[in-house]
Amino acid sequence: MNNSFIAPFARPVYVMVKPVGSVCNLACDYCYYLEKGRLYPDIKNHIMSEQLLEKFVREYLACQTVPQVLFTWHGGEPLMRPISFYRKALELQKKYGGGRQIDNCIQTNGTLLTDEWCRFFKENNFLVGISIDGPQEFHDEYRRNRQGLPSYFKVRKGIDLLKKHGVEYNAMAVVNDYNVDYPLEFYHFFKEMDCRYIQFAPIVERVALHHDGTHLTTPEEQDAAIRLAPFSVDSEKWGAFLCALFDEWVKEDVGTYFVQLFDATLANWVGEEPGVCTMAQRCGHAGVMEFNGDLYACDHYVFPEYKLGNIHTHSLTEMMYSPRQIAFGDNKQATLPGECRACDYLFACNGECPKNRFLHTAAGEPGLNYLCKGYKKFFAHVAPYMDFMKREILAGRPPANVMLIDN
Ligand code: SF4
Ligand code: SF4
Repeated sequence: MNNSFIAPFARPVYVMVKPVGSVCNLACDYCYYLEKGRLYPDIKNHIMSEQLLEKFVREYLACQTVPQVLFTWHGGEPLMRPISFYRKALELQKKYGGGRQIDNCIQTNGTLLTDEWCRFFKENNFLVGISIDGPQEFHDEYRRNRQGLPSYFKVRKGIDLLKKHGVEYNAMAVVNDYNVDYPLEFYHFFKEMDCRYIQFAPIVERVALHHDGTHLTTPEEQDAAIRLAPFSVDSEKWGAFLCALFDEWVKEDVGTYFVQLFDATLANWVGEEPGVCTMAQRCGHAGVMEFNGDLYACDHYVFPEYKLGNIHTHSLTEMMYSPRQIAFGDNKQATLPGECRACDYLFACNGECPKNRFLHTAAGEPGLNYLCKGYKKFFAHVAPYMDFMKREILAGRPPANVMLIDN
């Protein structure tokens, strides 16, 4: 039986919100979102109105089927809206929440953080995700403002403020062509900062110039003019990066430092839902709502052909459970090439993100993931450890026992 048919409402509706669309005070070279502003050339201010905020909060809360609700504020740079916008959001959450537990998280580049922001986040239990690409030299290679000025010191200052106020935060680091050869420098940097939740995200983009001035392509676009963006990470180097990082982590950090991809791999090893969509069986769980109410299938599929509708004309439930969005979710498995279906690691990889599936297999079939070689290397490398941790979990013992074996 078709899974999407029996359980479309098994998961809560989840939509990330863009209070300022793609507007940002930085202009990082590899940003996949900056150019999304070009989708709205006729709108002057890409700012979510308070009317739309109220409509969204009311509807989002009304369509939840669970007692705990998560709001995620995303960008662009969401701190380009003033604190008053988020205070209003909290008021509305209270007004329409019906006593449910409501959590908020916000993803920021960290450069606009102040004491006032941090006090606000602490008082209201926000989880703050900070984008920082490791040590200064790595970070400043691509994370700069429009004038080309680097951002590292402002981000570090922002992190210091979060720590000073005791705000819960995690780090998101982009692994690219420039820093991929330095996994241990990366990892030690985060450990020295005592950052315990770390997400390493490989960057892969293909670019071509479109008539509207945008550059990013969907995997469906196949054209001789399309090229791999120069900042993209090399697949085999990505595998080597993960292996080196894992070797360090598995020696002494299991259970104290949390690397999202390692947790997700272990989750798949034991048959649990992984905490990151790229490793999950299905897509389409997290929609994205732009500043004007347009809803898209996923943060990485904000393309006109993946627009689900607008909250002014369709309900969130209608759009998130529309046949199109369900098909978007199902396609992750349905479009796997034979090489993935026959792969020993399919259960752990699930073909990774469809955005990266633009290669052809050796047999000439389309849809192979650009990062495949790297992931195969990583899964083969960690398999004995994952097998061990799985046995420990099944026996009711802590997976951290893996640190006691002879590494
Ligand atoms: S397309 Fe990629 S980023 Fe989007 S839900 Fe699927 S795996 Fe996640
Ligand atoms: S490792 Fe490669 S072949 Fe195996 S499932 Fe992942 S992308 Fe497919």
